[in-house]
Amino acid sequence: MKIVIANSIGVDKNGYYIIHSPSRWSEGVKSRHNWFAYYPWELAYLSALLKRETAHEVCFLDGCLEQLKADAYYERIIAQKPDFLVIESATRVIDENTELALKIKKSSGAKIIFTGPHASVFPKELLEKGIDYVCIGEYEYAVLELIQGKNKSEILGLYPNARRPLLDVNSLPWPEDNDVSRLRYSQPGEPSSEFLEVQMYGSRGCPMSCNFCVARNIYYDQPNWRSRDPQDIVKELRYLSEKYPAMQGVFFDEEVHNAKKEFILELSNAIVEAGLNNLHYEAMCDVRFLDEETLKAMKMAGYYKIRVGIETASIEVKQGINKSMDLDLVRQRLNLAKTIGIKTYGTFTFGALGSTMAEDNKTVILIKDLIKDKLLDNLQISICTPQPGTPFYDQVKAQKFLRNNLDFTDFDGGNFAVVSYPGYDFKMIERMKNKAFLMRDHCFFKSKICNFEFFSWVRSIYKRYGVIGLLSKGLRRLPAEVRYFLWK
Ligand code: SF4
Repeated sequence: MKIVIANSIGVDKNGYYIIHSPSRWSEGVKSRHNWFAYYPWELAYLSALLKRETAHEVCFLDGCLEQLKADAYYERIIAQKPDFLVIESATRVIDENTELALKIKKSSGAKIIFTGPHASVFPKELLEKGIDYVCIGEYEYAVLELIQGKNKSEILGLYPNARRPLLDVNSLPWPEDNDVSRLRYSQPGEPSSEFLEVQMYGSRGCPMSCNFCVARNIYYDQPNWRSRDPQDIVKELRYLSEKYPAMQGVFFDEEVHNAKKEFILELSNAIVEAGLNNLHYEAMCDVRFLDEETLKAMKMAGYYKIRVGIETASIEVKQGINKSMDLDLVRQRLNLAKTIGIKTYGTFTFGALGSTMAEDNKTVILIKDLIKDKLLDNLQISICTPQPGTPFYDQVKAQKFLRNNLDFTDFDGGNFAVVSYPGYDFKMIERMKNKAFLMRDHCFFKSKICNFEFFSWVRSIYKRYGVIGLLSKGLRRLPAEVRYFLWK
């Protein structure tokens, strides 16, 4: 049998290049220069698992990495003559992915398996449209059993059966790296990664329970945290660095890399012992678990940046999203990291439950202060998007804050707000997000000039995006500065 594992379409009907990250939030960007691809990690683990556990021919394709529109992707998939097609899709692109899958089913007779957040929440609707199977939540082993021909009523995680218990992360092989090169995802790579970095995963899950989180609420359905064997992570690091001599580092892009101090200390020591501390590492972290000993061990191992979720300055919003983050602690831990020589990156979100214009404005001011105080080297701004299946979605729907006549393409955390609160509607939320961007870009621009880092910054953009990318970024900087001063 031939099994095709396919990531989402890469360019939608409206010309947006899709940055697909179904377990977080996906978005579309109009300019190719703002695009990059996330490694579709769970599909990639599935691909490797099917190759290890079955004798079937498995082919992994990525429409996002290839920047394929639906028609071109159709040709690519159909040429493989699939018997099964597995697709993971975010809500943002579900309509086009469903259309594509059904067209493939019609012309090839392939059985279609849908996975991912949207399918986990709307399995019945997808089956009614003609999709053959839906696997819920963490789906690797459910798809494997389906392909192996196990009695369907006994496959946990296959709709309408019960969910599966969370899998043992140490039972999985290393993710797909044959049909697609993991290094290709570094070119151009996640914008804040400063080196040629492969995206990798040392753990799965998160002990927190943010109301908007797709990973926590849909994939896992519970707080959890499961770490891999540090020695196996080091073996994977060595394999990747030998296979890709150009590789300069690794971005540990799981939910939270450092939920247990023992794990991060053991991993850091193992990296040093293996002599792999010549690589540059960055990781998604939780500030609460970062102390001096941990940060020093990470620095020794080659970690150059930590990424932390700060999200908001507002107490009301913190309560709304169910994330208690003490800002004094955040400042103290960021300062500690900077003192030890590790760069910092924060994520912030606007329009979350509890937001008002005044509350979100506090977050804009926090962003300004953290940059001014040199506590952040970069940061991410998003619109808090209630993805179906999350408590956030249920809450805004019940309180009638969800806008009417929404299209699934509107569930795009980079572009559109889909909620309107009394006195703070979706247009105001989008304007607030734009204001935060203006503030961020201006403050970093000013800080680079004041700290004589302007030319090294220009050089880094040139190295990464080439002359055209540099010119495009430079030309956008000028009107952005004008807009900032007009807004001021
Ligand atoms: S801290 Fe991050 S990964 Fe954890 S529940 Fe919140 S959003 Fe999800």
